[in-house]
Amino acid sequence: MRQAWDIETDVLVVGYGLAGGVAAVIARDGGADVLIVEKNQYPGGCSIFAGGQILCAADAEAAFQYLTAISGGRMETDIIRTFAEALAGNEAFIRELGAIDGAEVRRVPGQQGSYPYPGQETWYSIRVPRVPGFDGFDWLLCRNKLAGVNLIKVTVDNVESRGIKAMLSTPARRLETDDSGAVVGAIVEKDGQELAIRARQAVILATGGFEQNDWLKKQYLQGIPFYSMGPLTHTGDGILMAQKVGAALWHMWLLHGSYGFKTPDSPIAYRHSIPGYRNPKRKMPWVVVDKLGSRYMDEYPPAPQDTGYRPMEIFDPDLPGYPRIPSYMLFDEKGREAGPIARPMAFPGYEYEWSEDNSQEIEKGWIVKADSVAGLAEAIRERFPENEGRMDAERLAATVAEWNVSVEAGKDRFNRPPGTMMPLVQPPFYAAQVWPMITNTQGGPVHNARQQVIDAFGQPIPRLYAVGELGSFFGHLYQLGGNLSECFTSGRIAGQNAAAEPRLP
Ligand SMILES: Cc1cc2nc3c(=O)[nH]c(=O)nc-3n(C[C@H](O)[C@H](O)[C@H](O)COP(=O)(O)OP(=O)(O)OC[C@H]3O[C@@H](n4cnc5c(N)ncnc54)[C@H](O)[C@@H]3O)c2cc1C
Repeated sequence: MRQAWDIETDVLVVGYGLAGGVAAVIARDGGADVLIVEKNQYPGGCSIFAGGQILCAADAEAAFQYLTAISGGRMETDIIRTFAEALAGNEAFIRELGAIDGAEVRRVPGQQGSYPYPGQETWYSIRVPRVPGFDGFDWLLCRNKLAGVNLIKVTVDNVESRGIKAMLSTPARRLETDDSGAVVGAIVEKDGQELAIRARQAVILATGGFEQNDWLKKQYLQGIPFYSMGPLTHTGDGILMAQKVGAALWHMWLLHGSYGFKTPDSPIAYRHSIPGYRNPKRKMPWVVVDKLGSRYMDEYPPAPQDTGYRPMEIFDPDLPGYPRIPSYMLFDEKGREAGPIARPMAFPGYEYEWSEDNSQEIEKGWIVKADSVAGLAEAIRERFPENEGRMDAERLAATVAEWNVSVEAGKDRFNRPPGTMMPLVQPPFYAAQVWPMITNTQGGPVHNARQQVIDAFGQPIPRLYAVGELGSFFGHLYQLGGNLSECFTSGRIAGQNAAAEPRLP
């Protein structure tokens, strides 16, 4: 066991996104000395780019029923119960944290659970649309003024007001254990040097997802490739560090994501432009077809930025290959004029402004165009090598014809809501290549209701906790707003329990 340490603290928090920040604040309030280490040059993780919808429950029992249904039998009852109760207390907790800045906390009307399960009506969302006197961090270009940035502002102010130190540009590399297997610290890297940090009470892992780790994606996701809109620092470090000390993993296969765009200009993928909650009256100008030209899904499901990737993952042994990776988004001239098909995030260093009428992207060759559907099939074959020359003009024409009949009838065989349908009739016709795309991952170390990390044989690994999307609650079906909520619930629970661990001498 290590004898010499460079730094000592009571609770070490690894990762300074929302979950890590909240856990640090609560551990400090529980009486612990707290230190945060963060890999990036700034705090915020992917939380800072979030839309800021935070899921809350009006009634814990109804929330329990709904969460049980969306867990699909994959989750223990006590964890569901704890999460449901914490979600019922979330709004009050967030208001308390926000008080530091006089942050405005607002309920978002009309947002129930996305799926028709018992308890659907208990859900509502809150946002923090405004922090008085705050107009974004100067290091972060945040064109859309997404509310996630306000959550990070509130979190950072809570952290700083308690005198909690955060070491930025300091990735944790591995955990340190004692002879009993308890986690007693971590090795981090600062300016090219390794530092050993002792944690006398606990380590809380809050390192977010693995969407930028190609190896993990290849091992745990069915479809290849998946592109990501998450920060480049999200390489699953917390997963690997937890595995090394014996953690079991869960929910590695489940993503919050949809179909989106990968351009040669950026390592970050771009999401399509329809927002998170389905509005059955909002027009969506496109349909999506596979490599050969057939439609295969409702392009506008109940949560349009979630689940859209799920039908894309199928492998066809007869092909052989993935017939839906990549797929093609089709629209006509009216669709082109209806607005941008993508909404890139304002990622530091990777900002991109998609043109309002998609013309810039047509010029760049990211979108192909043709005067007829048959011509579009040919353009796809020629422009996109990933199509492997498979786009079939006859099949594509039949798909478009069938679609136009469905629009006319207001009835789609994939259950696309009639109010969202637009015909494809007005030349020229357009196609863009779309890929399964990750907004964020849900997998990570298994935890119990106390947020303690669990080993491969079902036992807690002493003094190790995990929070946020690192081993999220969601492992079957995601409920929108749930990830940000979980940062508050899991951060609160882990912070309290970590601060209550007996202090090592
Ligand atoms: C564009 C977008 C919109 C979203 N909108 C919503 C929404 O409206 N509602 C909702 O509920 N969810 C939303 N989500 C999901 C939600 O934002 C995330 O699941 C949540 O913010 C994750 O928080 P976290 O604290 O667990 O991780 P993060 O905020 O990502 O923080 C993890 C931190 O750990 C750091 N880290 C990684 N490895 C190391 C290491 N080795 N050492 C030290 N630090 C490390 C990272 O750099 C990062 O700062 C959205 C996600 C995206 C990308």
